Amino acid sequence: MIWNPNKETMSRDEMRELQGRRLHKIVDYVYHNVPFYRHKLQEMNIEPDDIRSIDDITRLPFTTKQDLRDNYPYGLQAAPQSEIVRVHASSGTTGNPTIVGYTRKDIGVWAECMARCLTAYGVTREDTFSVAYGYGLFTGGLGAHYGVEKLGATAVPASVGNTEKHLRLIRDLRITGIACTPSYALHLAETMGKMGIKKEDIHLRIGAFGAEPWTEDMRHEIESRLGLQGYNLYGLSEIMGPCVSYECCCKNGSHICEDHFFPEIIDPQTLEPLPAGQTGELVFTTLTKEGLPLLRYRTRDLCSLMAGECECGRTAIRMGRIVGRSDDMLIIRGINVFPSQVESVILSTKEFEPQYQLVVDRVDNLDRLTVRVELRNEYMTDLLPELAALEQKLSEKLKSVLSIRAKVQLLPQGSIERSQGKSKRVIDNRKL
Ligand code: ADP
Ligand code: ZN
Repeated sequence: MIWNPNKETMSRDEMRELQGRRLHKIVDYVYHNVPFYRHKLQEMNIEPDDIRSIDDITRLPFTTKQDLRDNYPYGLQAAPQSEIVRVHASSGTTGNPTIVGYTRKDIGVWAECMARCLTAYGVTREDTFSVAYGYGLFTGGLGAHYGVEKLGATAVPASVGNTEKHLRLIRDLRITGIACTPSYALHLAETMGKMGIKKEDIHLRIGAFGAEPWTEDMRHEIESRLGLQGYNLYGLSEIMGPCVSYECCCKNGSHICEDHFFPEIIDPQTLEPLPAGQTGELVFTTLTKEGLPLLRYRTRDLCSLMAGECECGRTAIRMGRIVGRSDDMLIIRGINVFPSQVESVILSTKEFEPQYQLVVDRVDNLDRLTVRVELRNEYMTDLLPELAALEQKLSEKLKSVLSIRAKVQLLPQGSIERSQGKSKRVIDNRKL
């Protein structure tokens, strides 16, 4: 099923034509309503009427998170406050939160795009769907919620916390779908084990997972533990919230709602656009947003765009998995290290729980990476040589993937703090 075949299966030419028209309108709109953009465009000698097709996008200035911070809280907002019906804030994973205002129309577009995502996962009006992202300033909860209602499924606003109560509801209400972070999905699975609930006792069949990077191995782990099909859901507050892109039944890249959010991939150093297939920084231009329209917003998320048709019938362009955030990338002894690389290694080693943390210290002016992992109960032993051998084995695997040596710290199962929302995988103690 496709929620909006009109937009999701448009021919590429029609889509580019629509994007071009919308781009012209949005440039005209920010030029007249956001002094920040008017000054930038004037400095660059660009008039709104110079922007005629989507190819002209490369002439436009970029917008960064710093620009939003410099203009905190409402400086880049285009609509008057009387038109704003809601504000959210980014979760501030990497600093001060960013305030995002939405008009009534923005909220409608968001629900529409979220309904596209859910339909692509296979959710229908017959489903009972639990939204286990946090409700509040974070966009996850309310964003997913409005989509579930728009689609006509039954929304259960579980939010986060109260995991045992939530699990009882999952069982008793025969909940069939859930949206949450991948790390929370694992936490649910662990708690189920403690409560004695088996995956055969529940009816979950679809999971919409996102808000933090996750790997293919993590997908398999969650799917087998919860007995469902897990799909990627991507979004960010500055652009809208969850709904920006979604996987379809093919699970091969996430389709972007590109009639609303125009994607580009750039080289983060030179800022030059990169061709499809190459990994770089993802950049979005909002084509229809009224509250906080953004031109070429640098997400700092690293991924690639995938050209070509998808077997599901959608023509909307796909993005690959987020391999990391440019601000999540650790530079250790000059080498780029992403938590996702460590995750892949750990999840492919049967002795460990899918929980880990990277700790970076600087000792005698040298960076030292420690990877903390949990040893599964069944592999726990008092025999020190066996433990040492396990450490050694993991350390060697990490070395071959990361190209640097990491110290491995084995912990008993359950010792790393479980996250309800976005997990904190990196602790950088270096004063850089
Ligand atoms: P913050 O930047 O403070 O975390 P948000 O709450 O808006 O703010 O989170 C958006 C970010 O979350 C994205 O830019 C991306 O880094 C991450 N994210 C969201 N969905 C996914 C996903 N499906 N896969 C990987 N990362 C994701
Ligand atoms: Zn598809």
